[in-house]
Amino acid sequence: MTVELICVGTELLLGNIVNTNGAFLSEQCAMLGLSMYYQSVVGDNAGRLEQLLHTAKERSDVIILCGGLGPTRDDLTKETAAEVMGKKLVEDARARQEIREFLEKRGHEITENNWKQALVPEGCKVLYNSNGTAPGIIMEDENTCMILLPGPPNELIPMFEEQVYPWLRSLQPEVICSRMVKFCGIGESAAETKILDLIDAQKNPTVAPYAKTGEVHLRITAKAVTEEAAFDLIAPVEDALKQRFGDLIYTDDPQVTLEQAIAELLKEHHLTITTAESCTGGLLAGRLVNVSGISENFKEGYITYSNEAKEKLLGVSHNTLKNHGAVSPETAEEMARGGRKAAGADICVAVTGIAGPEGGTAEKPAGLVYISCCCKGTVYTEKNLFSGSRSKIREYSVASALTLLRKAILNEVKK
Ligand code: ATP
Repeated sequence: MTVELICVGTELLLGNIVNTNGAFLSEQCAMLGLSMYYQSVVGDNAGRLEQLLHTAKERSDVIILCGGLGPTRDDLTKETAAEVMGKKLVEDARARQEIREFLEKRGHEITENNWKQALVPEGCKVLYNSNGTAPGIIMEDENTCMILLPGPPNELIPMFEEQVYPWLRSLQPEVICSRMVKFCGIGESAAETKILDLIDAQKNPTVAPYAKTGEVHLRITAKAVTEEAAFDLIAPVEDALKQRFGDLIYTDDPQVTLEQAIAELLKEHHLTITTAESCTGGLLAGRLVNVSGISENFKEGYITYSNEAKEKLLGVSHNTLKNHGAVSPETAEEMARGGRKAAGADICVAVTGIAGPEGGTAEKPAGLVYISCCCKGTVYTEKNLFSGSRSKIREYSVASALTLLRKAILNEVKK
């Protein structure tokens, strides 16, 4: 089955917004095993959209449209698509009721043009929208299926996942399943080198690496008649990865982030943690606080940007700072030990470095970052030399700090 994607919106053509819906929908269609050969972006113009829809109808089985379902005059996706499919628009009573409830609940005034959104092509399947007022639509004729989705991603994504994905899935004889294996503490090329034989031999399943800041994710994808059969194909490849990479794998659940995996370890082993940050200025604590329920393990953190703060809050010695400088393994270690003591925590992760672009010297260039983790008295200290913008260096520093933290916890719990 072939699928074609049309994103509607003049804002997209002008580059005012990034087409994230396009990326999301393409990825989802690939996961469904649908062949997508064409994608277009068209402005809010009925004539050009109509022309494009006629062309798309000639060459694709399924056409997904997103955007232009709003209440205003320039929102004309539904009207144009219905005309091309030869369908009349009729009012849907449930859609009207839901629009009323949605707007009343938020105290918005209802204007006449709001009812335009309750009109749907006759005989279509209505995709009710719990996050906005525009219902989505699936309409079919003998040859083509058109799926219309609202533009705002917070409406489009749940509507697609909950209602469109299962519908498209039911049309497909084969299912595509994948697992995402996530690593930290290894670079993309080193990871790829270790699995070149798996990549070269791949047909079904396939293995594809994705680089993230400070992490590598590998997606294993298989096609089969049932989900069970697809996961049976995936299992031996996943086992091979686990054997080759061991502890460098932190999860095989696509939803789990590195900070969540760490939070689970902290919970499981009843460990408390604090952070002592210089160049990351709170970013590391922010990553930990991304995890709901972390308050049990993370009570406080320190941002000690100046030397005075490092002395005052963490007890770093004046001589260490004077003799070795703020960006040194000695200072990082004292920050970690001092932070742990000050917070009365089991673990402290400390970061001190030069985020740049200014402030570097030949001896200590921008991107030089020391990370130290004091875990129940054992101290691990690492030197890193990152490159990139100030924000990238800070992001890499946080990813490396989380990686070192995870390594320290794993070592501790194995004792
Ligand atoms: P509304 O009911 O809010 O009018 P709509 O279905 O008419 O929604 P548009 O008016 O086309 O959709 O877009 C509304 C907003 O949705 C845009 O301002 C933008 O923030 C977001 N949006 C639209 N299309 C895309 C896209 N392809 N990728 C990412 N965001 C998008």
